[in-house]
Amino acid sequence: MVTILDGKAVSEKRLELIKEAISESGLYPRLATVIVGSDPASQMYVRMKHRACERVGIGSVGIEIPDDATTAKVLETIGRLNADNDINGILVQLPLPKQIDTDKVISAVKIEKDVDGFHPTSLGLLMSGKPVFTPCTPTGIMTILKEYHIPVAGAHAVVAGRSIDVGRPMAALLTNADATVTVCHSKTRDLAGELRRADILVSAIGKAHFITPEMVKPGAAVIDVGINHLDGKLVGDVDFDAVKEVASAITPVPGGVGPMTIATLMENTFTAAQRMQ
Ligand code: NAD
Repeated sequence: MVTILDGKAVSEKRLELIKEAISESGLYPRLATVIVGSDPASQMYVRMKHRACERVGIGSVGIEIPDDATTAKVLETIGRLNADNDINGILVQLPLPKQIDTDKVISAVKIEKDVDGFHPTSLGLLMSGKPVFTPCTPTGIMTILKEYHIPVAGAHAVVAGRSIDVGRPMAALLTNADATVTVCHSKTRDLAGELRRADILVSAIGKAHFITPEMVKPGAAVIDVGINHLDGKLVGDVDFDAVKEVASAITPVPGGVGPMTIATLMENTFTAAQRMQ
């Protein structure tokens, strides 16, 4: 019988715990979000983050910069937030418009406020096994695995996708937790063969229903990071209905990894406030 890894329920539980911890701490953590332009998906994600802040007792400040802004303008905003002692965490909503140098912007965020964990130093510390802040999506996945007692140490984990926000930090977190990790990507020769060796399969490719049962080892735990639109519906990378017949555990889309990303952002922001105190 397959276990549905209910990220929504785990996230609800985590948000309640954070709310309690914040209230007991007497702190009033504050998160600043920076959004450049008017991309509707980005605006929706930022709204969800502000709503979660409100729920757990984190103050949030939303900074909106017009579409045609320069890199210098965004850097000036980051500089101001870095210097503001009332702000504990800074989140720059990605992607940024084409004319903006994303690497420069990410690198400008003060490391102590890098609650997204994308700063090169944060990623380097994660690689070295001494993380400070780790990216929210893969960190949320580690929480799901822990919550459902899925053994990671010694397991063979296969991560499909090597992006900076998901695939690479996911591989580092799994390695730090003693998994044996394979990272696959668009140039991997025998993707199905690699995936079939996974005890834990994480897909962060971004292709609707790309992962089929033939690619999954019977009994594997399958984590679906993908957010795709198919026939007007939100679906993951995994063909959920078919793969749940072979997996031992699987995240749904929606209601799996997504909610954990936001809960982890709240945890990171609270941690930033505790460290700044
Ligand atoms: P990305 O486009 O930066 O990376 C995609 C990766 O998939 C690349 O490394 C590429 O090499 C690999 N890939 C593409 N085609 C492949 C193929 N045929 N075989 C093997 N690998 C292939 O995307 P991303 O930012 O890592 O996001 C991946 C997906 O996860 C997207 O659908 C995105 O919307 C979703 N996402 C969800 C959350 C969440 O909170 N749930 C957070 C971030 C991203």
